[in-house]
Amino acid sequence: MSNDNNNTKDLRENNIEMIRNRKPRMAICYDFDKTLSPNDMQTFTLIPSFEIDAESFWAESDKLAEENLMETNLAWMYQLLNYSKFKRKSIRKEYFREIGKDVSLYKGVEEWFDRMDKYAEKQGIILEHYIISSGLREIIEGSRIADKFKRIYASSYYYTPDGVAEWPAQAVNYTNKTQFIFRIAKGIFEEYDDSVNDSMPDSKLYIPYENIVYIGDSATDIPCMRLVKSKGGYSIGVYDPEKNMRKKVYQLFNDGRINYYAPADYTSRSELTQYVKQIIDTVAAKEKMKTDQMILNIDASLYNSIRSMEQMYERTKEQATKKMKKDMESTLSEMKDFLPGNID
Ligand SMILES: [Mg+2]
Repeated sequence: MSNDNNNTKDLRENNIEMIRNRKPRMAICYDFDKTLSPNDMQTFTLIPSFEIDAESFWAESDKLAEENLMETNLAWMYQLLNYSKFKRKSIRKEYFREIGKDVSLYKGVEEWFDRMDKYAEKQGIILEHYIISSGLREIIEGSRIADKFKRIYASSYYYTPDGVAEWPAQAVNYTNKTQFIFRIAKGIFEEYDDSVNDSMPDSKLYIPYENIVYIGDSATDIPCMRLVKSKGGYSIGVYDPEKNMRKKVYQLFNDGRINYYAPADYTSRSELTQYVKQIIDTVAAKEKMKTDQMILNIDASLYNSIRSMEQMYERTKEQATKKMKKDMESTLSEMKDFLPGNID
C-alpha cells in the first residue's frame, strides 16, 4: 500500500511538473494590404504587369458586382480571368508567386516576426502568426515573409492540372474573415472542415481567444476586430506612417473596435512594438495565474474526491462486509495523509 502511496505522490509531482512546464500559445492575426504592405496588392502590382489599366479594371469589376449582385471579391477574381482570356495570357500560380516577390512591406516587417517570437519565448509564450486577408494567397505566398506564418488565409484560385487559374477556390471578405479567428482558436485549420462550428469548452481551445491579437487597417477588418476584442483579445488599428491619415483609426477607436492604434511601423522601437510587447506581457502574466490556479486545483479536487468517497461510504456502510470497510477506511486515510494540510 505504501508503494501505491508513493505512486500517487509521484503522480501528483508529475502533474505539477507538467503544469509548470506548459507553454501557452498566443496568436497575432494580420490583415495584409495596408497592414503589412503599404499597397493594395492587386492595384499596384498585379494589374500593371498584366497591362491592364488599374482604374478601369476596378471600375469594371465594381460595376460587374453591382449589376449582378455579386460578391466584390468574386467579381474581381472573375474579371481577372476574363482579362486573361481576352489577352490570351493564362494566369498561373507561379506568375502570382513571382509578383509576390516584389510586394513592398512596411518598415521593420521582415524582422518583426523573429523579434516578437523571441520576446514571447522569454515570457514562456509560444507565438504564432496568421494572415487573414481578402487579397490573393498565391501572391502572399510569394512574398519574402511567407514562411513566417503558420497559415495564410486569403482568397485563392483553383488551378487546372496543368496549373492554370480557372475558378475561385476561396473568396475571403470582411464577414467571412471571422471564421478564421474561430479556426485558429479551435485549432481546426483546414478551410473545408465544418467541425469548426462544433462547440468547444475554453479549456480545450488551441489558443484561448484572450491570447489572440488582430492587426488591421480598415472597415473590412471591423468584424474581426470586434470579434477578437469582444472575446477578451486585443485589436490594433494601423495607419500608413508617411501618409499619416488617421481618420479611420480614430473612428475605429471611438467606436470601441480597437484597443490600440499606431503607425504601421514594425521596427524595434516603434509604438506598435511597444503595444504588442505590452500585450505579450499581459498574456504571460494571466497565463502564470492560470498555471498557479491549475496547480492549486490538484489538491482542492483531491479534497473533493475524499469528501465524495466519505459520503458514499456513509451511505453504503451498513451493507458492507468487514473487509470492504477496512479497505475503504485505509484508502480514505491514505488519501488524507497524502493531501497536504489538515481537513478534519
Ligand atoms: Mg487592409
